[in-house]
Amino acid sequence: MIKLQFEIAIFLYLLIAIFGFLIAWVIFARMKVRAKHSAQLESIWQCFICTYIYVDSKNSRLSICPRCKSYNEREGGGR
Ligand SMILES: [Zn+2]
Repeated sequence: MIKLQFEIAIFLYLLIAIFGFLIAWVIFARMKVRAKHSAQLESIWQCFICTYIYVDSKNSRLSICPRCKSYNEREGGGR
């Protein structure tokens, strides 16, 4: 009887873990979509030194990477 309860407990634990993972995944996917919609394409920067992707609210040609503090110049776009 104790063994059966133990197996049920493991089953319930796995079920809760899987549900938790699914809920977290859905929330993460929604956040990603929302970020895509809200953030403008021009304000997303990728550092060419450390390839770190960050968002800079300043709409300027130069931006400073928050990770390695190096200057990034806007590539492409309207010139
Ligand atoms: Zn960087």
